[in-house]
Amino acid sequence: TSFGYKEVREEEKSQMVGNVFTSVASSYDLMNDLMSGGLHRLWKERLVSKLNPFPGMKHLDVAGGTGDVAFRILESINNVGRRAMRDIHDDNVLDETQIFVCDINPNMLNVGKKRAQERGFGDNKSLVWVEGDAEALKFEDGSMDGYTIAFGIRNVTHIEKALAEAHRVLKRGGRFLCLELSHVELPIFKDLYDYYSFSVIPALGELVAGDRESYQYLVESVRRFPSQEKFAKMIAEAGFDKVEYENLVGGVVAIHSGLKF
Ligand code: SAM
Repeated sequence: TSFGYKEVREEEKSQMVGNVFTSVASSYDLMNDLMSGGLHRLWKERLVSKLNPFPGMKHLDVAGGTGDVAFRILESINNVGRRAMRDIHDDNVLDETQIFVCDINPNMLNVGKKRAQERGFGDNKSLVWVEGDAEALKFEDGSMDGYTIAFGIRNVTHIEKALAEAHRVLKRGGRFLCLELSHVELPIFKDLYDYYSFSVIPALGELVAGDRESYQYLVESVRRFPSQEKFAKMIAEAGFDKVEYENLVGGVVAIHSGLKF
């Protein structure tokens, strides 16, 4: 592609992504906490606070398998909703809220559904689990108020297609937000981070998940992912306005955002 990051052959990539997430689904939460030192929780909080969720909204969280982002959005809406309800005495708005969790891997969705039960969201009608591909979403044009994708776009085969789909399903005024592992440029921090990525992460993967290869793949896929600037350009090329990004922990992760006008 014109972005020059396509090193793995396409069908190989899709297959690899499938295998990776089937094999890691069960040890997934523990690995996330270990690899990020628990920071992924704060990063997801930040993503949701940027989204500014509201009661009655239609939201799509893509690659959302384990429900981590969706639960936070729902919690945030319930807090806002309860406050609003005290003022306007209307709980219909809350009932209309729909958070769609879309993931290509049914194993991840099952982990998410199980976690929803554990968190007391089991019979919550606002959560809708959908098996589907970020590149070909099963949602109508202009149907969503918001779109999030956390640690997911890096695994998508054609990133431009996923961005075009995000733009298509959003309403005018809808917001796109993407949380992803990104690139560190600070001189000494970069060396430390490289050591951590290439030595510590695969070793952790082997130790905890019994799967060095999947975590090796994770590190390499972060390497191949476009820089913050390049990715911002791709988002703008998909038709989004007001594209910007925020680096967290010196660029270990970045949150990109865009608006559909
Ligand atoms: N968003 C969750 C989080 O932050 O904890 C899960 C992130 S997990 C690292 C990446 C997810 O992307 C996996 O559940 C995987 O099945 C999903 N995925 C990979 N390719 C996808 C695609 N083309 N469409 C939808 N989901 C995809």
